[in-house]
Amino acid sequence: MKHKIILKAIALILTFSSGMQAQEREYDYMFFENSALSGNYFFSSVKYNEGAYVKNIANKLPVNDKTFFTPPNSLELDYTNGSGTWTSTIDFERIRGNDYFKKSNSLSFWMMTENGKDELLPMLQIGLVEKERKTKKIVSHKQSGKVEISKYITSTDIKGWRQIIIPLKAFGAFEVYPNQLVFSNSAIKGEKRVFIDQIELLPEDVDGKLDAPQNISVKAYERHVDLMWKPVDNAFVKYIKIYRSEDNKTFVPIGIQRPYFHRYTDFTGQPDKTYYYKISHVAMDYSETSVSASHKATSYHMSDEQLLDMVQEASFRYYWEGAETNSGLALENIPGRKNMIATGASGFGIMAIIVGVERGFISREQAVERMLTITSFLEQCDKFHGAVSHFMDGTNGKVEPFFGDKDNGGDLVETSFLFQGLLAARQYFDKKDSEERQIRETISSLWEAVEWDWYDREKENKYLTWHWSPDKEWLINHKLIGWNETMITYLLAMASPTHPISSSMYYNGWASQEELAVKYRKDWGKTDDGSFYSNDNYYHGIKLPVGVSNGGPLFFIHYSYLGLDPNGVTDKYTNYFENNRNIALINWRYCSENPMNHKGMSHSFWGLTASDGPWGYNAIEPTRERDNGTLAPTGALASFPYTPEQSMAALKNMYRNHGQYLWGEYGFKDAVNLQENWMAKIYMGLNQAPVTIMIENYRTGLIWKLFMQNKEISEALTKLKDLKH
Ligand code: CA
Repeated sequence: MKHKIILKAIALILTFSSGMQAQEREYDYMFFENSALSGNYFFSSVKYNEGAYVKNIANKLPVNDKTFFTPPNSLELDYTNGSGTWTSTIDFERIRGNDYFKKSNSLSFWMMTENGKDELLPMLQIGLVEKERKTKKIVSHKQSGKVEISKYITSTDIKGWRQIIIPLKAFGAFEVYPNQLVFSNSAIKGEKRVFIDQIELLPEDVDGKLDAPQNISVKAYERHVDLMWKPVDNAFVKYIKIYRSEDNKTFVPIGIQRPYFHRYTDFTGQPDKTYYYKISHVAMDYSETSVSASHKATSYHMSDEQLLDMVQEASFRYYWEGAETNSGLALENIPGRKNMIATGASGFGIMAIIVGVERGFISREQAVERMLTITSFLEQCDKFHGAVSHFMDGTNGKVEPFFGDKDNGGDLVETSFLFQGLLAARQYFDKKDSEERQIRETISSLWEAVEWDWYDREKENKYLTWHWSPDKEWLINHKLIGWNETMITYLLAMASPTHPISSSMYYNGWASQEELAVKYRKDWGKTDDGSFYSNDNYYHGIKLPVGVSNGGPLFFIHYSYLGLDPNGVTDKYTNYFENNRNIALINWRYCSENPMNHKGMSHSFWGLTASDGPWGYNAIEPTRERDNGTLAPTGALASFPYTPEQSMAALKNMYRNHGQYLWGEYGFKDAVNLQENWMAKIYMGLNQAPVTIMIENYRTGLIWKLFMQNKEISEALTKLKDLKH
């Protein structure tokens, strides 16, 4: 567990577009386009001394929701130049896997000024700040000289939005793109308010021809409307621009969407209301096509069952609409690297696809076609003693060491997450026809090829090792020691029909009482609680039989139990449904109490787990030390089988009261931190599917039943029950 978090916390180096991976998506290098949240902009800061002033909210720049170039908002720079000085800093927001960028030689932004002369416009510097990965301490800070914005004005029409383009060479040489912009006072005294929007390094070579949007459709739900269109295949299109009307006469711009989505979610917050929509295309040079014909949709009250369907379908869509196109497998996060698949998340996605058929989101034929794509890709891809790597290039099946050079081989935990999905699919696709038979046969041959026993590195029948690489071998050297999210790895290794580990490894490795294992648990939990695997303390009035600290992040009770029914897993310490339910209840009671007084956290917005966050990917736990106010919807929603009432309350609260920023193309966005006024821009492959699957397990037990039907699994669980201890 610990290792996974550390690896995921490694900051990725930003890279210019290179020939080597030219096929990866190159993003616009955007400092600001819109803020998901009102109030202030998280990635900004403001400083001034007396004799000067910059309007701020909690020392950050205000977001203005009324005046914007691109809807729905802009940044407001409202200042007084006097005897003192002021600065307003905007940091580049690093988004996981968004690490290839279009070439640029100029900085561009759009501004609108209301008062004061243009010579009052600020000075601008660019900077490059490098921080130490773990401590976030600044290790180097380069800054350019100051450039006068007023020198780059080409239009003196102060009534409208004006584009300012400044060549990067005006700032002096930087070997890589800057990650900080600093506005500051000019020498001229006075007051001025400037709205700033679309701050970016302007992509080069953006000639093209604009075409109008095609095949538009709309669909209303309880408090939002989804707009869909034909996927855009034109690199000259920068945005799809959305207009809404309530009377089909007056249309106002409400938002923009990137062309790598062909769906926009308009959360209006109102049931029983009719809306009309038109959309247009905006080009790389910000020219715009005419708007489409209008499309009508009426929102309506939804029952609990309809809400569950809606949430399940939206999260499922991540693995359907959002899949990597060649392999059919799941991406690590969206938006992110478009070719890089994550194998564990892909296993989760397979289970979500099964739910998709049963709930009628797709047909069985569509799912069969996708499963044939997936299984034939998996037959061909890189494997390491039968195990797959954590990340692969979906276009060719080659390992992609996203977490660094050492991680270029088999990942047994991700492999077990993948096979949890494949084994559920082997039961689901049970028809006699040749296609479904082929799916089953391929899954069986992949399953039989995994050398689980190879990953018992010491051959002492104790610990499984997480990684093995053909050239680095066991260099990462991470032993799997429970209790955490990797129980499925031991159980599948025990269940293997061809390369099983000795069942004795369950107590000798996974639940080991050796000093090495005790120390491992203490190191991650920073407490003695649970360091001998069993715990038996009470937290918030609830007994915890097994688990480190007070149970840890909620993904521990999700990832291993999407297929594996915890009702059927009992060892000498506990039954794991009971244990998992207690962990969910401890988490819920902690969030209800909200001891850190974090904004938004409550009995109906709860579920601390691993997710994206204001300071990157992190595992959040219900302890004062590890709770930073970040809330991930998957926490409460994937806990549905354990805490149906509390999970339903969270679903309704998150959708109805927080949907405006939290609800999107693939359901709930990964995470939000209302305390910091930070909102995730991404969805994550590990977090969406557990929502779909665990709601289904709560409703019908479908995925649990399928996975448990595998005879190897029931045999392994019988072995576990019969183990001498
Ligand atoms: Ca904007």
